[in-house]
Amino acid sequence: MKNFWYIFTAFNVVLLTSVIVGFAILSRRQRGHPAGKLTPEEQLRRWQARAPGWQIRCLKCDFTEPYGKYGSRLRAAGRKYTLGYCSHCRGIRFYVIEHESAA
Ligand SMILES: [Zn+2]
Repeated sequence: MKNFWYIFTAFNVVLLTSVIVGFAILSRRQRGHPAGKLTPEEQLRRWQARAPGWQIRCLKCDFTEPYGKYGSRLRAAGRKYTLGYCSHCRGIRFYVIEHESAA
């Protein structure tokens, strides 16, 4: 009977480990790493290619990020307001999407 509990414990440990590793892989995939690891410079270059010169700015804390992270904006003009979660000041804030030359 003691053997059974050893096997049971070992099985549980293996199961738990695979669940944790599975969650880690899933969450990494959701953060945008479909093709392995990208260097920050390469990531930034991709964002710039998707929305050259466009940036998104939080109206409360002035936190600015390249807009290419969220979507593409190639042939556009003016500025656009949107609502979103700011990871910098932690809350639902108004954002303005504007070109670097207009900021
Ligand atoms: Zn903010």
